[in-house]
Amino acid sequence: MKILVVNCGSSSIKYQLFEMPEEKVLAKGMLEKIGEKTADAIHDHHEGMRRILKDMHDIKAVGHRVVHGGEYFKESSIIDEKVLKIIEDYADLAPLHNPHNLTGIKAASQALPNVPQVASFDTAFHQTIPSYAYLYAIPYELYEKYRIRRYGFHGTSHRYVARRAAELENKGKYDLNIITCHLGNGCSITAVKKGKSIDTSMGLTPLEGVVMGTRSGDIDPAIIFYLAERRGMKIKEINNLLNKKSGLLGFSGISNDVREVRKAANKGNKRAELALDIFCYRIKKYIGAYMAALGHVDTIVFTGGIGENADRLRREILEGLEELGIKLDKQINDKTHQCEALISSPDSRIKVWVIPTDEEARIAHDAYLLMEPL
Ligand code: ADP
Repeated sequence: MKILVVNCGSSSIKYQLFEMPEEKVLAKGMLEKIGEKTADAIHDHHEGMRRILKDMHDIKAVGHRVVHGGEYFKESSIIDEKVLKIIEDYADLAPLHNPHNLTGIKAASQALPNVPQVASFDTAFHQTIPSYAYLYAIPYELYEKYRIRRYGFHGTSHRYVARRAAELENKGKYDLNIITCHLGNGCSITAVKKGKSIDTSMGLTPLEGVVMGTRSGDIDPAIIFYLAERRGMKIKEINNLLNKKSGLLGFSGISNDVREVRKAANKGNKRAELALDIFCYRIKKYIGAYMAALGHVDTIVFTGGIGENADRLRREILEGLEELGIKLDKQINDKTHQCEALISSPDSRIKVWVIPTDEEARIAHDAYLLMEPL
């Protein structure tokens, strides 16, 4: 069964065509410059979708990555009018993503009118987080009225690597307590108790939590008032500063890419070195917090571009945690890049895995399961 997976951004469409259930990738690519003013630009997402589908036949379902599903979706769902309306309603909380995800859904439904469309939500896996962990200590009416709460993101990735870790350890998916670290351009950490997310570092939006490529992660909210009142910055500017100009980029002044920051640090750039120290320290703190939240931890998993590749950062994050039961096998850790590997030493009480994530394949898998009974 052929399933197309689509991830629509403001001016791009990323796609992969899968043969399911084998998860064989038949085609993949990315269209850029959609709706831009350059000579080689693609007019709009509808034209983009037509180009993608030109040489594709027999597609049985289209799976869409949708960032925000709010409190409505605990799993992937076949898209109908009601689902569309909810995605639209949450555009307010995910203005950079949901509107473009919707455009992608509309373009794909128009190009393939009789093919079911499926939405996989970044927020869905985190819908099991208990209220004491998802509510902020602000007036309760703000939750009731505006649904301001922790939602969490990267759910498809956290769920997959947690399930896969259990499989690799020959355990059932509800047997283990796991801390999953998704470290890519965006970074988030999740506490998974017996297969269910019970807390995660990202919040109402992907800005909260650990330090990221260009996002600050947790800060004292009073910094915002200080910048607005004392420095005269506009709210829009501060938003841009915290989302686009902070994190590794903002601190190092070099790049949002860990590799570039590491290169500079190796050449003696102190701020680059400090940026990496802050990055690791903040992840270490979340791991410690989630060890307490879980009470007992069996496994830690690293995934995402940084988690799968940056062996030295993994080492630095877990350094000094031997007394908490975490001991890396340095040789295996340093050799592990973009492949599944157990990187803890045999006498480590907590197992540490690197597990490459594959969000597109998970979306295809969910769409396939939803199509199967038909
Ligand atoms: P996204 O979150 O957009 O899916 P990725 O998971 O692909 O991003 O992560 C991208 C980041 O991974 C890059 O910015 C870079 O910092 C890091 N990365 C990729 N390859 C390596 C590598 N070989 N060593 C260290 N870091 C890497």
